[in-house]
Amino acid sequence: MNFNALIVEKTDDGKTHASVQRITQDQLPAGDVTVAVEYSTVNYKDGLCIGPGGGLVRNYPHVPGIDFAGTVEASDDPRYAPGDKVVLTGWRVGEAHWGGYAQKARVKADWLVPLPDALSTRQAMAVGTAGFTAMLAVMALENHGLKPGDGPVLVTGAAGGVGSVAVALLAALGHDVAAVTGRPETEPYLRELGASQIVPRDMINETVKRPLESEIWAGCVDAVGGAMLARVLGQMKYRCSVAAVGLAGGANLPATVIPFLLRGVNLLGIDSVLQPYENRVLAWNRIAQDLPMDKLEEMIQPATLADLPALGADILKGQVKGRVVVDVN
Ligand code: NDP
Repeated sequence: MNFNALIVEKTDDGKTHASVQRITQDQLPAGDVTVAVEYSTVNYKDGLCIGPGGGLVRNYPHVPGIDFAGTVEASDDPRYAPGDKVVLTGWRVGEAHWGGYAQKARVKADWLVPLPDALSTRQAMAVGTAGFTAMLAVMALENHGLKPGDGPVLVTGAAGGVGSVAVALLAALGHDVAAVTGRPETEPYLRELGASQIVPRDMINETVKRPLESEIWAGCVDAVGGAMLARVLGQMKYRCSVAAVGLAGGANLPATVIPFLLRGVNLLGIDSVLQPYENRVLAWNRIAQDLPMDKLEEMIQPATLADLPALGADILKGQVKGRVVVDVN
């Protein structure tokens, strides 16, 4: 039976074009589980893969969508049976492999995670890679000693996907959350998610002038990188940690090693793509337990497959607020 998919094609002049088309099950790539996709979402990487590719997409025509949640339709793997609810993030699905911007997807069973009972497929995609990564970042900070009462925890790129979920999670866990944003109009939204302090982006975006400043932050989830991350390192409290998640502000790190040497600051790398299965299950269960679903609902911007070309361009410009949830049906 035919179904809808967002297909990205490359023309002879090297440009890409995305459109919703009808395709058949035979066109799906090899894999041991076929999933009836219910929802997907839009991450920064999706913006790249819907558009020029950013070097991530290997072959065209391509179906992007790095995340999806849905119901197993057929399985050759004993771990999954028809009717099971599943979620997928990472493993280069939507980049090297066809992804979630279609009504059906075929993938390896190893890449799937059973959806916790407390989450719907729609809620799972409101979380998506962005929220899953925010959870991994919070878990990493906790594993390095962060606990409520230690002091303010900074979240950079706060109105974006990773940032919004990090703010809501940290606030729900009892932390005092400071949210960095370059969009002052998002202040009511960020306060509603639980931020107690708003830090204008300009205040913290300047190049490091002194390697150490006053000790302010007990932890940081950083979605921005670049000059902002360098600056934050010099503002961390003694032996506290920054979870480096993203590069929305740049991939360079114009910093000194002084915060590491004199204050024992930790810089923790967070990767969501190749995260081991046990950690994935742990993170999804923590999300189901700790993320307030009413706050998650406030982050949602609903969309359809047809909206994706415009949304892909918006996220590359840093203009998406919160989390887009794509109903592929
Ligand atoms: P979004 O576009 O939703 O959010 C990024 C936010 O960063 C923006 O909303 C904006 O927040 C801020 N920002 C944008 N441009 C700049 C800039 N030039 N300087 C400072 N701040 C800026 O993206 P996501 O939240 O989905 O992803 C955030 C980052 O994390 C991306 O770089 C992404 O690639 C990375 N990522 C990494 C993962 C991993 O496995 N390590 C997984 C998922 C994402 P505001 O308007 O509030 O200032």
